[in-house]
Amino acid sequence: MKFIKYYIPFLFVMGSLAIILHFFWLPYYIDNELQSSLAHEQEKTRLISDTVLSAMLSGDLAELHTMLDSVVENNVAWNSVILMKVDGTQLYPLFKSVLPPSDTVSIIKYPLIYNEQKLGNIQVQTDIDSLVAPKLQKLQHLELLVLASSFLIMLIGVFLQNKFIHNPLKKLSIASSKIAEGDFMMPLPKTSDTVLTKFVENFNHMRNDLKHRENQIMRQQMIQDSVHNMQSKFLTVQDTGAVYCDMLDTLLELSESHFGLIGEVKYDEKNQPYLKILVMTNIAWDIPSRNMFESVIKGELNFTNIDNLLGQALITGRNVIDNKPEVDLLSLGLSKGHPELKSFAGIPMYNGKQQLTGMVALANAKNGYTDNSISELNIIWNAIGNLIDAFHRKELLSDREAHLRAIVDNAVDGIIVIDSNGTVLTFNPAAEEIFGYNESEVINQCITILMPPMYALHYKEDIATHINNGRLELIGSSKEIKGMRRNGEEFFMEVSVAEVKTGTIRHFTGIVRDISKRKEQESQLLAAQAILSKNNDQLLGLSLRDGLTGIANRRCFDETLDSEIKRATRLGSSLSLIMFDIDHFKLYNDYYGHVEGDNCLTSLANSIADIFKRDGDLLARYGGEEFAVILPMTNNEVATKFAEVVHEKIEMLALPHAKSPTAPHVTVSLGVASLKPNKNTTASELIKLADEALYCAKSEGRNQVYSSNMKLINA
Ligand code: GH3
Ligand code: MG
Ligand code: MG
Repeated sequence: MKFIKYYIPFLFVMGSLAIILHFFWLPYYIDNELQSSLAHEQEKTRLISDTVLSAMLSGDLAELHTMLDSVVENNVAWNSVILMKVDGTQLYPLFKSVLPPSDTVSIIKYPLIYNEQKLGNIQVQTDIDSLVAPKLQKLQHLELLVLASSFLIMLIGVFLQNKFIHNPLKKLSIASSKIAEGDFMMPLPKTSDTVLTKFVENFNHMRNDLKHRENQIMRQQMIQDSVHNMQSKFLTVQDTGAVYCDMLDTLLELSESHFGLIGEVKYDEKNQPYLKILVMTNIAWDIPSRNMFESVIKGELNFTNIDNLLGQALITGRNVIDNKPEVDLLSLGLSKGHPELKSFAGIPMYNGKQQLTGMVALANAKNGYTDNSISELNIIWNAIGNLIDAFHRKELLSDREAHLRAIVDNAVDGIIVIDSNGTVLTFNPAAEEIFGYNESEVINQCITILMPPMYALHYKEDIATHINNGRLELIGSSKEIKGMRRNGEEFFMEVSVAEVKTGTIRHFTGIVRDISKRKEQESQLLAAQAILSKNNDQLLGLSLRDGLTGIANRRCFDETLDSEIKRATRLGSSLSLIMFDIDHFKLYNDYYGHVEGDNCLTSLANSIADIFKRDGDLLARYGGEEFAVILPMTNNEVATKFAEVVHEKIEMLALPHAKSPTAPHVTVSLGVASLKPNKNTTASELIKLADEALYCAKSEGRNQVYSSNMKLINA
């Protein structure tokens, strides 16, 4: 740079000097030289004039010629020397040069005067070019020299510029281009120019810095690539062990360590941390250590002893770096025979919630471990901490998933999961059984294929309503709807649907039960029940009916009387009882036979049954040829009237009874009793009263009504 600073002004000065010399000084110099040459010529002419004059005076021209020859020898520029007359005509040519005629001639005349009388002139014709030429030639040489020197200096300048400026700059340019392309391998030579040297030094420094940074970037890139690999393997590779193996290999490579391990931090029942070894370098040196390594592969190796370097990292939760571990390996928790430990780093790892999840131990790095070398890999430690956690959760999740899958697969009920468009996502074996479809035939199909067409339409509307209003008819408690099997058979199913929302995704899980068999059984059961109840009614009827006459039997009578007493007690109403007995029926049987006796009983019952049509009135066969009528809410007077109606009806029936002492036809005696029962009243009381009235009617001559209140009614 210094060179440039001085060289260009120097060239400028030299150039200016050359121009001044050539254009200003040279004409001046030539003119000067010419003037002095001409003065010299004049002086010589004067000398010649003197000699010519003396020769003319003496007449000795030989001396004149000798002098002229000597003059001419020394004056090559003279063209001619002529002796002129006073009138200017040529008198005598003294000398004529052999030089070619020239345009640049100077004529010098000098008068020849003797005794103040002008005899003539000496005229010397001089070629100016010839006169100045030698001087000019010298000058041209000088100019050429200056020019050559300038050119040489310029060449030297170019050479020096090339050597010290252009070439280093060119190299700098190439080097900077290469740097731009990522190649830092071209160091620049130092030059003598201090500015350029400084520049080159700076450049080299910058290059080294860039190289260092590039290495750093490349290493960071490598570290990031490693993290990326770990994470993508976590997502794609099923074999957890293989992922951890790769992880450890990467760590060993990046930290230039010889061996190491990765462990998961776990806690025992006393909440003491221990390390479950996930992967470790195989540095087995004997059978126990080989067994230990194999137990890692099985996932069975736990480091519970934390009273060592590794444990220190585990307990403190901080990095432990030791580049000069104790010689005694046993104190480090290492067995005898363990490879020598030259340097050690224990790095605890955390998940996103800053919970300690894992631990990495590295050993025997080439240059030991430093805080920087460990923190450089922070991104990896974080990634591993999170991955261990994620693996752990993935395991739990896959356990749970497997568990859920097992439940779904083994569920007795069909389980169908659909998305909000009704597309089937899950179709379990029980559902296959119910609908007759294979899972593959239904998955990704619309749920409507499992429904009769008319329901399918309804379903679509239902789903649309749900999406718009948040209501789905089927959601919540189970509903009975119709489904359709693969063979087109429609059947009843019980469905309960639950909506599962995960973020914006909505799924519907339906539990489906085939209730067609149950329905069938239900209807069969209902039919059976109907028959049964009919039978029951019949049975019940039978149990309460008298087999011969078809009217209520004694059991019915007893039950009815009890309940009517309670009812009358509650209502405070009257209750009446008519009891009547066929007169001399023994004689009837005896005379007409038992069968006719039965017929008589039946005819009699039938003839009076339609008298008692009020609700609650009950005509019953009390026993043998004895009958009873329960008349709720009936006082004695009304009851007696009913008894009289019965009496009359039987009279009118006029069934012949040839042997009766009372009448030629069948007659009955009737006893009427009434009361307003209270809570102490019993059936037998009323029966007893009626029975007593009947007894009275019998004893009074039979064929009559006797009321317990009115005594004899009809004689
Ligand atoms: P009384 O006028 O005093 O009532 O005389 P009775 O003969 O009717 O009375 P008794 O008690 O001495 O006789 C009742 C008879 O009724 C005895 C029995 O043969 C007859 N008898 C009872 N139950 C039946 C029955 O279901 N069918 C037939 N054919 N006869 C019956
Ligand atoms: Mg009787
Ligand atoms: Mg009788």
